[in-house]
Amino acid sequence: MRARTPKRPKLAVWKFASCDGCQLSLLDCEDELLAIAGKVEIANFLEASRAVVKGPYDLSLVEGSITTPHDAQRITQVRKASKFLVTIGACATAGGIQALRNFGHVREFLSVVYAKPEYIETLATSTAIAEHVKVDFELRGCPINKQQLVEVLSAFLKGRKPNVSSASVCIECKRRGTVCVMVAQGIPCLGPVTHAGCGAICPAYHRGCYGCFGPKEAANTASLSRQLTVLGVSEEQRQRLYRTFNANAEPFRTESAHA
Ligand code: SF4
Ligand code: SF4
Repeated sequence: MRARTPKRPKLAVWKFASCDGCQLSLLDCEDELLAIAGKVEIANFLEASRAVVKGPYDLSLVEGSITTPHDAQRITQVRKASKFLVTIGACATAGGIQALRNFGHVREFLSVVYAKPEYIETLATSTAIAEHVKVDFELRGCPINKQQLVEVLSAFLKGRKPNVSSASVCIECKRRGTVCVMVAQGIPCLGPVTHAGCGAICPAYHRGCYGCFGPKEAANTASLSRQLTVLGVSEEQRQRLYRTFNANAEPFRTESAHA
């Protein structure tokens, strides 16, 4: 285990219910990560190393949602051990795809999926980290965008606020010169209500956005829903559109309930 240099902040990465994709985005930072790794002490990151340095930690990155009683206990311990806590990804910021259970009955799912459901300890819901503890910053996406992650880490090291746009995917389409797929081709698209971060990849390939970066700031979903109806999207299709990786995020949750 490396000797600790006192001046380097201690970074910890924690996993809750998730697919590990956001942690992989962190490993995928490659060159940038090497530069950052020199500036922080990676004290707890089980995806990358079994070596664990005891807390408290200066910065914790938390991936995943709270789905079990044990998760709910563990996140309070993580919070206590962390000076700054940043949630990464749709699971941690909105409950993830696993929050689809929130619209059904988890006991029914258990009986269908598991031969011995009595051994499963689970909560009825999958919830975002911010519903349990104070969160200092939320980074959206499924998975997160690595440039945004590097920006958050750099901002932390410089003691400033991260410069992460809370605008919509529409703004990113305009920036890259993509013609609006909804206006020009009548393709249903959640771009107007979805948080920027992906660079508007899908519309650039003539596909509507399905909202994997979650709701943008002050998303007007009611207005978008009216336009989707004009395009011939049925109530059932509209509900499916809002209920993907960020189904439990307001206002997607509320809007899908109206569908
Ligand atoms: S947000 Fe998406 S990529 Fe990240 S852990 Fe959850 S499911 Fe995986
Ligand atoms: S679904 Fe939307 S947010 Fe996700 S990559 Fe495509 S355009 Fe971006």
